[in-house]
Amino acid sequence: MLKVTVIGGGLAGCEAAWQLARRGCQVTLYEMRPQTMTPAHSTGHLAELVCSNSLGASNLDSAGGLLKAELRQLNSLIMECADAARVPAGGALAVDREVFSRVVTKRIEENPNIQVRRQLCSEFPLPPAIIATGPLTDTAFARVLTDNLGEGMLSFYDAASPIIDASSIDFSKAFWGSRYGKGGEDYLNCPMDSEEYKRFWTELIEAKTVLKKDFEKGFFESCLPVEVLAQRGAKTLLFGPLKPVGLLDPRSGKQPFAVVQLRREDVNGTMFNMVGFQTNLVWGEQKRVFRLIPGLEKAEFYRFGVMHRNSFINSPKLLVKNYQLKDFPGVYVAGQLAGVEGYLESTGSGLVAALDLWGKLTGRDVALPAETLLGALANYTLRPNPNFQPMNANFGLLPPIEAKLNKKERRKQYSERSLKSLLVWVKYFE
Ligand SMILES: Cc1cc2nc3c(=O)[nH]c(=O)nc-3n(C[C@H](O)[C@H](O)[C@H](O)COP(=O)(O)OP(=O)(O)OC[C@H]3O[C@@H](n4cnc5c(N)ncnc54)[C@H](O)[C@@H]3O)c2cc1C
Repeated sequence: MLKVTVIGGGLAGCEAAWQLARRGCQVTLYEMRPQTMTPAHSTGHLAELVCSNSLGASNLDSAGGLLKAELRQLNSLIMECADAARVPAGGALAVDREVFSRVVTKRIEENPNIQVRRQLCSEFPLPPAIIATGPLTDTAFARVLTDNLGEGMLSFYDAASPIIDASSIDFSKAFWGSRYGKGGEDYLNCPMDSEEYKRFWTELIEAKTVLKKDFEKGFFESCLPVEVLAQRGAKTLLFGPLKPVGLLDPRSGKQPFAVVQLRREDVNGTMFNMVGFQTNLVWGEQKRVFRLIPGLEKAEFYRFGVMHRNSFINSPKLLVKNYQLKDFPGVYVAGQLAGVEGYLESTGSGLVAALDLWGKLTGRDVALPAETLLGALANYTLRPNPNFQPMNANFGLLPPIEAKLNKKERRKQYSERSLKSLLVWVKYFE
């Protein structure tokens, strides 16, 4: 029997262990809780949800809905348990968190092919193995990871700016340009006059922020949330991320009072990152306040900004296909630690890593279609990126559909294309 080690009994680890076990592998799953807790977990249950009890949208014209459908198609344990623990939540899939993690724990513990060891893992595993210790990876183990993967290859803090759907930007207001004409016209600039800036600044300093837990107190000076910078004074942003110097608005031929810069997030230019807008505002407030920026009045957010403790590896430098470590064949990193963001994204990466590992052990080549979100997320972690940050599922990761369609129709087509390709793949692979 094929023996595999999985470290971390969270969302990615449980899904990975389950997928391997149902294919006949004998899995040892290490979970340090309840003996050693993280700052955010509060029980000893496997797959505990640390924050919201919502797993996001269900409808197929949303990326969250598509991801769920893909996971269901691949017989995900986490999806099955989420469906069993569902509570009414409109168009979203929300769960009773206690019921959910109890059901996952029961299913894992009762599986004859899985042995759960409640102990802290403090050694780098031998292959075949999957490391899925999550954003709050135990500090001693994080040191072990750094020793093996290389100094600077593990980040401990996530300070990500929001990412916007390019098709929702008003290009009659935003203009392409580079400061002083140096380099290519790589930035999309949203100009503000003094009145627009004043309104934006006033709302920004008053906006509601996420309540921080003790472990999240204290920001790095070089990476302050945009609202904290704004609170230092009405003009601080004008010398920081909103500096207008060297930029001329082609509509007026003049330098605007302030400029918000957007940078392409992907080669196709379907997603834009708000430069310097790492933020701790709650998501609803990000939408409300950032839509006050001229050109972003109808902005759709692929990902909101976040600032919290988050361990993740430098995946583009360390991984090869499907979350396997380049320098440690047969050892995989899955979940948030591998640079995906979100409950079901973590689950999905655990599933994909497990499939790939099983394929490796049994001589099958696992190549998920790039049109699926599961395949696209795995590919995202490989793209060279000097500012690599965890990413959640969004349609901007998928190969674009060129046809002229409205947003709803386009999203529907993304989903149909993905599920069709996955259906073919599943028939061949299962
Ligand atoms: C504070 C916080 C709030 C978040 N809120 C949300 C949210 O609301 N919605 C959302 O979609 N995502 C959220 N996330 C992001 C992410 O989706 C979750 O953290 C998710 O649980 C990640 O799944 P995972 O499997 O990678 O890690 P986890 O689910 O955290 O699982 C990792 C497991 O490994 C165990 N472990 C760690 N080190 C060791 C070790 N050395 N030996 C043995 N076991 C170990 C841990 O105890 C844990 O059980 C949040 C993240 C954080 C940090």
